[in-house]
Order: sequence, then C-alpha cells, then structure tokens
Amino acid sequence: MSNENTSIHEFDLSLICEYYTAFHRQGPGSTESTLKALSFIDGLNEHSRIVDLGCGTGAPSLDLAKHTKAHITGLDMFQDFIDIFNANAEKAGLQNRLKGVTGSMDNLPFQKQSLDVIWSEGAIYNIGFKRGLKDWKPYLKPGGYLAVSEACWFTNERPQEIEDFWIPEYPEIDTIPVKIAQMQDAGYLPLAAFVLPETCWTDNFYSDQAAVQADFLKKHKGNSQAEEFAAYERHGAAMYDTYKDYYGYVFFVGQKL
Ligand code: SAH
Repeated sequence: MSNENTSIHEFDLSLICEYYTAFHRQGPGSTESTLKALSFIDGLNEHSRIVDLGCGTGAPSLDLAKHTKAHITGLDMFQDFIDIFNANAEKAGLQNRLKGVTGSMDNLPFQKQSLDVIWSEGAIYNIGFKRGLKDWKPYLKPGGYLAVSEACWFTNERPQEIEDFWIPEYPEIDTIPVKIAQMQDAGYLPLAAFVLPETCWTDNFYSDQAAVQADFLKKHKGNSQAEEFAAYERHGAAMYDTYKDYYGYVFFVGQKL
C-alpha cells in the first residue's frame, strides 16, 4: 500500500490523536482569522454562550475567550485534547468561563435555542457541512450566529491529482458560492466568507511538522502505522505546497433567520 493511496480513515485514531496533541492547533487557522470572523458578530456580552465544536486543544476558543466576555464551551471527542484545553484555560486564568467537555458534534449536550454562537474551525467536515448546518441550527437562539471554517475549491476545475487526494477525505469539498448557497438553503443569512491566508497552513500548521514528526517517529520506532501516518501527513503538506492555488480554508459566518 503506497502512502499516497492510504486514506486517513485507515489509521489508528489514538495515534492520530497523540500526533496532534503536540500541535498548538489541530487544523489550519490563526488568531487573526478567528478575530476577523468574530468581527461580524454583534452584541456579545457576559451572558452570551458560545460553543466551539471540534475544539481540539482549544486555540480558537482561547482567542474567543480573550476577546469577548462570553461563556465558552469547547466540545471534542478526544479526552486528551480536552485535558489540554482545560489546562490551557486554567493557565490563562479563564477557567470560570472557558471549559472543555468531551462529546460528539452529532449529539450535542446543549439545550435547544440556548446558544448565541456556534463556532467550529476545521471540524464541521467530520459530520459534513450541510448536516452540521442543519443539525446544529435548533441549538442556536433566533438571531444566533454560526462561524465555521471549511476547505473549499477556489476554481471550477482542478488537476486530477489534487482531486484524488482531497475527495476521499473530504467528500463535500466544493466551491465558495456552493457553500454560501448551502448556508442560505439551511436558513442562515450569509454574512461573510473570507479565505484564510496561506500562513494559516504554512506557519501555523505545517511548519511545526518536522519537529513533531521527529519526536513521534522516535517514540514509535518500528511501528509501521506510525510511519505510514507520518508519511501521509508529509504528503498532505507537499500537496498543499504544489496545489495551494486550487484550494484552501474559508471562514463562513451566518446568522440564524
Ligand atoms: N478546532 C480546532 C481543531 C480542528 S481539527 C482547531 O482549529 O485547532 C478537528 C477536530 O474535530 C479534532 O480535534 C477532532 O478530534 C474533532 N472531531 C472529529 N470528529 C468529531 C466529532 N464527531 N465530535 C466532536 N469532535 C470531533
């Protein structure tokens, strides 16, 4: 089995989780992009409730906590990420209004119509963009906001190699106008869509990879799963380098109508 043809779904989840605990972010993003998306959201105060679905170790949640007075709950399926999330909240002295919980984004432990904002960076694809938009909406208050980032194609046509890489992992990847129409169809007013700068991948996501890989491979010497996974991740970075004119992450902000 060549690395290029291996799907991420074939790797042991605990290995993937361990690999990603070493990163500050588990997906492309930046403080600047989080704050830019936040700038489209009005009226947040100390009574507001934000949830961050697929929060990872909490980089976006921490930025939200530092730049609003809201109460923020991060939710992720991996306990190890949530432990780091809560340790970071405590380190920042924000533990009274920033908390991580384990759970699944397809079965939210919140009351209907109780949330002011649903946030999700680089994670909604796990249940699918359209399904997330539809299933999460009942949890928002009327007039509540949704802010999500999602991988998108930038052009109508792409080289075959990059389609073959992305589509098995990310079957709903599509162009920006298609995603905006999906928001509209799901009953949100599309307020903003902006492309995350390249540095969100290169500086904030892929640059730490070499150091993380060295430690990871040392620890798992002789483990072919770990070696294959590391090679798969390197391949992802090389694909981005070659094909970044054709795809990237896009932030979408909408308001529940
Ligand atoms: N938002 C974070 C992490 C993005 S990576 C950041 O921007 O850094 C995607 C995250 O989604 C991972 O932490 C993964 O554990 C989480 N995830 C995947 N499927 C999930 C599910 N069904 N429910 C909750 N979290 C999930």
